[in-house]
Amino acid sequence: MLVVKTVKVPVHYSITTHKLSILNSLTARTTHGIWAWSELFKKHELKGSYADRQLFHASVKEQVKLSGAMTQCCFDRASWMWRSYREAHKAWRREVAIARREGEKKWLRKLLRREPQEPFTNGMRGKVPIWFDSRFGAIEASKHMKLCPYVARVSTLRKGIKLTIPLNPAEYHLNLLKRGIIKSFQLVKRDDKYYVHVKMEFHVPDQPVYAVRGVDLGVKRSIASVMLRPNQPLRSTDFSIQTDGLKRDRLNRLEKRIAELQQSRKWEPLKRLRHKRLHVSEYYDRLAAKQVAAASQNALVVVGHPKGIKYENFKGNGKARLRRTLAHWTYGREIHYIQEECAKVGVPTETPDERWSSQTCHRCGSRHTERITQSIFHCWNCELVYNADFNSSINIGSRFLPTATTRRATDDLAYAGNEQAREIVACEPRSPHPFMGGS
Ligand SMILES: [Zn+2]
Repeated sequence: MLVVKTVKVPVHYSITTHKLSILNSLTARTTHGIWAWSELFKKHELKGSYADRQLFHASVKEQVKLSGAMTQCCFDRASWMWRSYREAHKAWRREVAIARREGEKKWLRKLLRREPQEPFTNGMRGKVPIWFDSRFGAIEASKHMKLCPYVARVSTLRKGIKLTIPLNPAEYHLNLLKRGIIKSFQLVKRDDKYYVHVKMEFHVPDQPVYAVRGVDLGVKRSIASVMLRPNQPLRSTDFSIQTDGLKRDRLNRLEKRIAELQQSRKWEPLKRLRHKRLHVSEYYDRLAAKQVAAASQNALVVVGHPKGIKYENFKGNGKARLRRTLAHWTYGREIHYIQEECAKVGVPTETPDERWSSQTCHRCGSRHTERITQSIFHCWNCELVYNADFNSSINIGSRFLPTATTRRATDDLAYAGNEQAREIVACEPRSPHPFMGGS
């Protein structure tokens, strides 16, 4: 399996001011090139096709005085910017329409202030990087320079003259640079410092697939998963639940601290906590994804994608509590992390739309079902009572099995042998159902 990863290496601090000035003018010119293309995208409503590029290539090349290859890469960048802008704008229009329909004035006002902006709306403020490919740039290992083991070599604005940029990779960067294949790179300027973002490909040997792991990301933000093997009944060890108790705990404490600081109007420490919440969530999501990947040797990991769940639960549909829970639910990031971590160890992933997976009975396929509580599922057709998250997981995973025979003999297993799963079922004291007597 191929994994693509961007490695961000700082430019060496020993770079001379002369080289820096060459770098400055080069990146300024390519930014100008992207801007020139962007203006054409706006004026002629280009879609970014090959024909679009051919039509204006010569004139842009003449206008910004860049090489043909660089002009092309500027086009690619501008095209990407306009594509992302149009997608973001489409999603925004959809939300505005919903807000208008629902008469949500406060929300609408907020939305209208957040309209996505066209590329270069505020002029050419920062520098926009382009991807350097092998035609006019390379990352090379240097044998001569003791100080820096890697350099970037790029064409400059003067024909035939190349610029050598010393890099300052950390041990971590070095390992990655040695292991993978360098595809292209960007020169990025952040806070007055240059970085080289290297796009790399890594070959990870594919693991043979003997089983499917169905994964359900619960709204309660726990990850339920079930390992399904063709033609084999489920065993108690096939079920697992990862709770996010630690993450909740950390976040709650953090929020309490923020509230205290706000009350006492201590702005300085508040400022320092600004990104902390995000970092904590990211850290725990990454950890959970690593666990999923590690537990899925020789399996296909199938994560149900709760598409449209946030849109379907618009404001004013009477489910305010559910919506509040959903607002902080970062399933997009969780799925992305699981995909990344699985790819790193050669485990393939799929993310099908999970509509109906929680309403369908995995044993008989009926949708005539109900939730006895948030976590307990009941089927009216075959009278199955089951852990709701595991029921979804089995539905999600079994779509990728050649035969659905594992659906047999799954009763009583949803909690057996799994302490955490048992706790989840057992923490519903007011619902008398078959599971309660079991443990
Ligand atoms: Zn059923």
